[in-house]
Amino acid sequence: MSDLEQFRQETRAWLEDNCPVTMREPVKSFEDMYHGGRNPEIIHPDQKVWCDRMAERGWTVPQWPKEYGGGGLDKGEAKVLSQEMARIGARGALWSFGIVMLGPALLQFGSEEQKLEHLPKIARGEIRWCQGYSEPNAGSDLASLATKAEDHGDHYIINGQKVWTSYADKADWIFCLVRTDNSGSKHEGISFVLFDMEQPGVTTRPIKLISGSSPFCETFFDNAKASKSNLVGEEGKGWTIAKYLLTHEREMISSFGAAPKKSVGQQAVEAIGTDASGRLANSVLRQNIAQYQLDAMAFSATMARVGDEARAGQGLGAASSIFKYYGTELNKRRNELNIAVGGESALGWEGEAYADGRVSRDWLRSKGNSIEGGTSEVQLNIISKRVLGLPDQ
Ligand SMILES: Cc1cc2nc3c(=O)[nH]c(=O)nc-3n(C[C@H](O)[C@H](O)[C@H](O)COP(=O)(O)OP(=O)(O)OC[C@H]3O[C@@H](n4cnc5c(N)ncnc54)[C@H](O)[C@@H]3O)c2cc1C
Repeated sequence: MSDLEQFRQETRAWLEDNCPVTMREPVKSFEDMYHGGRNPEIIHPDQKVWCDRMAERGWTVPQWPKEYGGGGLDKGEAKVLSQEMARIGARGALWSFGIVMLGPALLQFGSEEQKLEHLPKIARGEIRWCQGYSEPNAGSDLASLATKAEDHGDHYIINGQKVWTSYADKADWIFCLVRTDNSGSKHEGISFVLFDMEQPGVTTRPIKLISGSSPFCETFFDNAKASKSNLVGEEGKGWTIAKYLLTHEREMISSFGAAPKKSVGQQAVEAIGTDASGRLANSVLRQNIAQYQLDAMAFSATMARVGDEARAGQGLGAASSIFKYYGTELNKRRNELNIAVGGESALGWEGEAYADGRVSRDWLRSKGNSIEGGTSEVQLNIISKRVLGLPDQ
């Protein structure tokens, strides 16, 4: 038996013994995923049990090195783990910005002390992170950010405002872009710092989204303190780290476009029925769904291929913009189709009959996909310059 086959058998047995039955169900919503943190929101007690068991083996971050709380698996083993989890319908044990965004950036740019301090806490779901990038006058033009960090010897004092900070009111720590120097070009003088949100100088104010939920905040820093030991990379050179992290964020957001388990076609057949020849009884919708499903399958296959080709943990670089652009536009198409398939019943906003507006709220939320992590227009600019090498107009 090959080593990989042996690993598969051991993994299968371990998952059978350790994955609670309740965690073998697909997550129903973002809130239904386990995000960890000092005060975790626990919908079902098994979420924490499952997370702790997986973290014990390093399998919340299977490919991170063992010394940082990871599983130390190679690409082949990580693939087997995800196949075996899919086989029993096991959900991911922990989902966090620490795993998908900060972790890769720290692995690449963090000091040894920073890796040892922060990565294991991310892997075990002990600390929940948020992303302090956007400001009221610095969204697409992120390098115009003005939040100021003043040098006070062994620490910085931070003043300014961030906006659209997802889950800032629930996060324990923030990875934050601040201006430490104003004298050069706008891309210089930006620093990447980490600090605790639980301190007197930090205030968050939730903002309501069009979908009715309030997942993000205005975030205010009024003499907030960040230790210099938590400056990642060199002072004033944070822009490179910021961009690297964004490629991982975009890769994560692009996965929203992957083909869903229950296809829109299946849902349409259940909702609308079939004609005499067994085809969906609405020819216009049939054509739109078929085109969407072909595009989603091709996208998923391309993501799988490119993911296999990318060096483990290194990500896709600027090409992540292609996937971010296409994946989010696809996800918006899927949500449009869900509305069309559901008809009147998909438009309800509240009440059991409408599943508390799940379809309409998801449809509205999907509009933000092509804005968060950089808008579609900005991705097209990046693709033209950095992937295709086209000249500036
Ligand atoms: C759901 C959601 C969650 C978010 N979470 C976070 C978070 O956790 N942390 C965080 O820091 N930020 C977060 N953001 C903010 C997000 O990164 C910004 O909204 C985004 O970068 C766009 O910036 P802006 O909103 O200021 O729009 P603007 O930059 O003002 O853009 C307005 C419009 O102008 C267009 N535009 C601007 N510049 C150009 C250009 N050069 N070429 C072509 N078109 C252009 C844009 O495409 C857009 O259509 C989140 C946003 C959303 C919607």
